Amino acid sequence: ELAATMRGGVKIYGKGHATVRALDGIDVDIRRGEFTAIMGPSGSGKSTLLHTLAGLDRLTSGTSTIAEQTITGLSEAAITDIRRDRIGFVFQAFNLIPSLTARENITLPLDIAGRKVDSAWFDEVIGILGLGDRLTHLPAELSGGQQQRVAVARALVARPEIVFADEPSGNLDSRSGAELLSFLRHAVRDFGQTIVMVTHDPVAASYSDRIVFLEDGAIVDEMLEPTAERVF
Ligand code: ADP
Ligand code: ADP
Repeated sequence: ELAATMRGGVKIYGKGHATVRALDGIDVDIRRGEFTAIMGPSGSGKSTLLHTLAGLDRLTSGTSTIAEQTITGLSEAAITDIRRDRIGFVFQAFNLIPSLTARENITLPLDIAGRKVDSAWFDEVIGILGLGDRLTHLPAELSGGQQQRVAVARALVARPEIVFADEPSGNLDSRSGAELLSFLRHAVRDFGQTIVMVTHDPVAASYSDRIVFLEDGAIVDEMLEPTAERVF
């Protein structure tokens, strides 16, 4: 069961002689219920891979699928629908709306999609993330770790088929970061959530089931069941 795939993925930025080949022939399968980490040096194409897999950005050539749908060739509107209905995003900069409460931020994707909040699932996510007494707070009234947990709750509350996370623990102190990564792992183990995470941090990557290593836009290595010691 594949949640997302890419075949021959190439991404070239720019035109003329000032081009950058950010992805150079990527073949990757993202399995359902797996926690995949993408690692590699700065500039190796991690963010580009995440964004093209998630349908936030288009490949120059090659194909990609999300939930059995080929997104290459779809219209912008169709890709937006897939993103809205089937994908969750967690970014390093939490991207919360300052004028909305934590609760309003969390339910925003459902409100935009015109979907109802599954209150049992909402309570479960909020309980595990320890946000129960913070729901009426504005983002500015929350710590960095709490803001990131709100961003994670927002990504999960619609039960998306895949969550894409770009350095989700990058702005957190090590304790908040570890709590967040434990929660992501728990979501995979106990709820079958599929997660693809970009990180340059070996400790963060060690929470995953599989690490894909990028170099110069190509996959150069893969590690199953990583541990921090083996990644370092
Ligand atoms: P990473 O996430 O591993 O740091 P990126 O995917 O951000 O790598 O970038 C891969 C390469 O593509 C880098 O050389 C980067 O400078 C280049 N790049 C990324 N985004 C753009 C863009 N919008 N325009 C031009 N070049 C870009
Ligand atoms: P850019 O090339 O500047 O990243 P994009 O159109 O790919 O432009 O996206 C801009 C930003 O908007 C993304 O980096 C992301 O932070 C946010 N974004 C886009 N689509 C979504 C979405 N469906 N859910 C949440 N955030 C999104």
